Amino acid sequence: MARHLSDSQKQTIAKHLALMHKVVIFSHQSPDGDAVGSSLALMHILQNAGKQAVVVLPDALPSYYAYLEGFESIVYYSTDKEKAELEIVAADHFCFLDFNHLDRMGTSLSAFVQANMKPSWMIDHHQQPTDISEVLFSDVTFTSTSEMVYHFVIQNNWGSCINLPAMNAMYTGIVTDTASFRFPVVTAETHKIVAEMMERGLKHAPIHQAIYDTQTENRLRLTGYALSEKLVVNHANHYAYIALSEEELLRFQHQPGDTEGLVNQALSMQGIQIAAFFRQTSDLTAVKCSFRSKGDWDVNVFARSHWNGGGHRNAAGGKLVGSLEEAIHLFNELMQ
Ligand code: 5GP
Ligand code: MN
Repeated sequence: MARHLSDSQKQTIAKHLALMHKVVIFSHQSPDGDAVGSSLALMHILQNAGKQAVVVLPDALPSYYAYLEGFESIVYYSTDKEKAELEIVAADHFCFLDFNHLDRMGTSLSAFVQANMKPSWMIDHHQQPTDISEVLFSDVTFTSTSEMVYHFVIQNNWGSCINLPAMNAMYTGIVTDTASFRFPVVTAETHKIVAEMMERGLKHAPIHQAIYDTQTENRLRLTGYALSEKLVVNHANHYAYIALSEEELLRFQHQPGDTEGLVNQALSMQGIQIAAFFRQTSDLTAVKCSFRSKGDWDVNVFARSHWNGGGHRNAAGGKLVGSLEEAIHLFNELMQ
C-alpha cells in the first residue's frame, strides 16, 4: 500500500506505454460515479497520449452520467457482448479501475477477460486486492479511484494529457465517492487536486447539478415511498433498513441509479449506527445489498463474512442468492 508509485512501477508503466496501442479499460458491475469517472478520465488521458482506448462496463450506468464526455462511447457487456469481446481480443493492454477482484465484473465477462489476458494495470482503493496485474496501484487511504488516476498520471509526468473531459470525469468520481467531500477519507490533498483542476478550467457547479438535480418524478416518488412505507428501524440495536421487491421497483418504473443514496438516508437518522438497503434482482433469484455505518463498525468485514461482498469500512455491498425475506431474516438475526 503506497500513495506513491515505486521507481520500478514507473519503469514498468513507461515500458507498457511505449508498447501499447489499443487499451481496454474495465470497471465493476453496477458501475457508480467513481467507476465511470475514473474509467473515462483514463480513457481521455490515454487518447491524448496517442493511444486507442475504450471503456467496457459489465452493465448499465445511471443515465444522469450522460453529461460526461465519452459516455456514448462506453461499451456495455450486458447489451453489446459481441462488440465488447471484439475490443477485448483486439486490445494489447488492460486497465482495471475501481475494483480489485476480476469476479466484480460478473462471472461471464471475468472468464472472458481471463482467457484473453493482456499486460495490465490495476488502480483501486478497496481492501484486500488480488495481485493479478503487472502494475498494482492499490491504496485504501484514497477517496476514490478517480483521485488515484490523477496521482497516477502526475507521478508518470503525463500531466499535460489531462484535458477538461478528463477533469470532469475525475471530479465526478471524487464527488460521488465522498458524498461531496464529507467522508473522513478526504484529505487536504484531495482539495488541492480539485483546486488545481479548477485553476485549469474545471467548473464544479454544473457537475453537481447534473448528478443531483436531475431526478425523474418516478425516482423522487420511489424515494418518498421507500422512506415513508418501507423504512424499518430498530432503535434498541441502532440499525435501520429498507428492502424493495422487484414488483415495487417496477411500480415506479425504476432505472439504474434510482435507489442510489437510499441507504445513506437511513443512516442519516439520529442514533442509527448501521443501515442496509436490499433490492431484489430483476430475475428474482437474488438480493443486492448495500451497507453503511458510522464510526468503527466495519461493514466491509460484515459484507465479506455474510453477503459474498466487500467494499470499505463504512460503505460496502454484497449479494445473497435467495429471496428478499431470507435476506431480511439473516440481517435481523446478525444484528441481534
Ligand atoms: P454500494 O452499496 O454503493 O453498491 O457499494 C458500496 C461499496 O461496496 C462500493 O465501494 C462497492 O464497490 C462495494 N461493493 C458493492 N457491492 C459489492 C459486491 O457485491 N462485492 C464487493 N466485493 N464489493 C461490493
Ligand atoms: Mn470507488
